[in-house]
Amino acid sequence: MYLKSPVPYPCAFFLAHGWETTDLNSSHAFAAIYSTSTMIRILGTIFAGLLGLAFGSFLNVCLSRWPAGESIVLPRSHCRQCGRTLAWWENIPLVSWLALRGRCRTCRAWIGWRYPLVEFSVGVLWALVGWRLFEPFQYADIPTQFAIGQQSIGLLPATAAMIFLWILVGIAVLDAEHLWIADAVTFPGIALGLAFPVLFVSFLRTPLRLQSAFWIQFGERVGAILAAAGLILLIRWVYWLIRRREGIGLGDAKLMALLAAWLGLPGALLAFGLGVVLGSLAAIVLLVVPSARRGSESWALSKLPLGTFLCIGGIVSSLWGQPILAAYYRWAGF
Ligand SMILES: [Zn+2]
Repeated sequence: MYLKSPVPYPCAFFLAHGWETTDLNSSHAFAAIYSTSTMIRILGTIFAGLLGLAFGSFLNVCLSRWPAGESIVLPRSHCRQCGRTLAWWENIPLVSWLALRGRCRTCRAWIGWRYPLVEFSVGVLWALVGWRLFEPFQYADIPTQFAIGQQSIGLLPATAAMIFLWILVGIAVLDAEHLWIADAVTFPGIALGLAFPVLFVSFLRTPLRLQSAFWIQFGERVGAILAAAGLILLIRWVYWLIRRREGIGLGDAKLMALLAAWLGLPGALLAFGLGVVLGSLAAIVLLVVPSARRGSESWALSKLPLGTFLCIGGIVSSLWGQPILAAYYRWAGF
């Protein structure tokens, strides 16, 4: 019956028959459906990855042109050194950079590591989301789960996750290259993080009894945003009291608010912890390896892009936050 159906529906089959079936015919059917869903999963992952490469390429255009005050749409892609308009095959994400070995075809100007790195990162991250989206036998339980790191996610949460990861890669590069966390990214990002769960609830026509639970969660999320930003402001104030110098930027406070809007307070705090550890490791490398230090700047004065490390922490937290936090709670005895 399931095999004759034009679109095999693994979830229904699983619910009807379970994993353990002694019936030879249905176990054959089970294997056929399982392999179909595995194939869909692999194709879906590849498609999400390719889409990620394209959006990574677009992000590169934004990251090059926006800080320079140029239009993102016009003119067409060109070499930033000699100004030559690129041929179509020089615009293929990752492949073009590899084929050109990172240099302009005419003026031999170095294109830079950022282009392939951003394209690769967004491609891999989106592929990871795709891999989870097309997980076989997933149970959709969306109204009550609006953090994005869950084991099984639906199409709308997956889209949200992709946008969130895309924003984080963008902020990470912007802060690394310009020590700048733009309000024009963080404020809409916070609004989006809050708007997506509202979208889920309205799209899914959630029953009323779940809606009140949702709005309580929503209120908690707003509280989490304030707490996360407040934590950074507190650290900033304490640092100023001790050193009489700005230690942590206001942009970092807005970034923490953004992380809390999407991940909740535990997820944002995990991202913060990971970011601080990564930042400290980078600082130690700067301290130990003299050639890594630039000029005569005292290392305590040299600025590390904390936002970049917070974004990396946020990416890890959004994809693997649930198991990490669960392990931590078990260890701490909650
Ligand atoms: Zn050139």
